[in-house]
Amino acid sequence: MLYLLCGILGGAVLGAVCIPLFKREETLESAIIEETQWDLLQRKKEVVLGNIQDLDFEYKCGKLSDEDYHKIRSEMSVEAASVFQEIENIEADADLDALIRREINARKAKSKAAVPAISCPSCGSSNPATNKFCAECGAKLKH
Ligand SMILES: [Zn+2]
Repeated sequence: MLYLLCGILGGAVLGAVCIPLFKREETLESAIIEETQWDLLQRKKEVVLGNIQDLDFEYKCGKLSDEDYHKIRSEMSVEAASVFQEIENIEADADLDALIRREINARKAKSKAAVPAISCPSCGSSNPATNKFCAECGAKLKH
């Protein structure tokens, strides 16, 4: 029964991890030209972190022995660390412009999809309504 439960939960977790990835794929298709090494690494990072999550989950469910868990976990940690390192290297020198463009686009898309705006009582700039303080001047926003 416990195994069945773990299987169901595991499937749900896997689904939750995969669905956003597929969604991202679709939106990425239009911007595929801009895909950089950094993007690839970001996805690799998500996969690696997802694997670690799955591993932790299976361990908690009792599917893995301590020994196996720690062995695989340390291998995955090494892999994750190397991906993080690669990302850092790229962010340190390479295509910062593309990085910033992507970051801005992502934020635009996010703010479009999400919360209504609220204007700052002090400087009048527009802030997402989830903000407690103005991003421009730091004044407290009135809700
Ligand atoms: Zn302000």
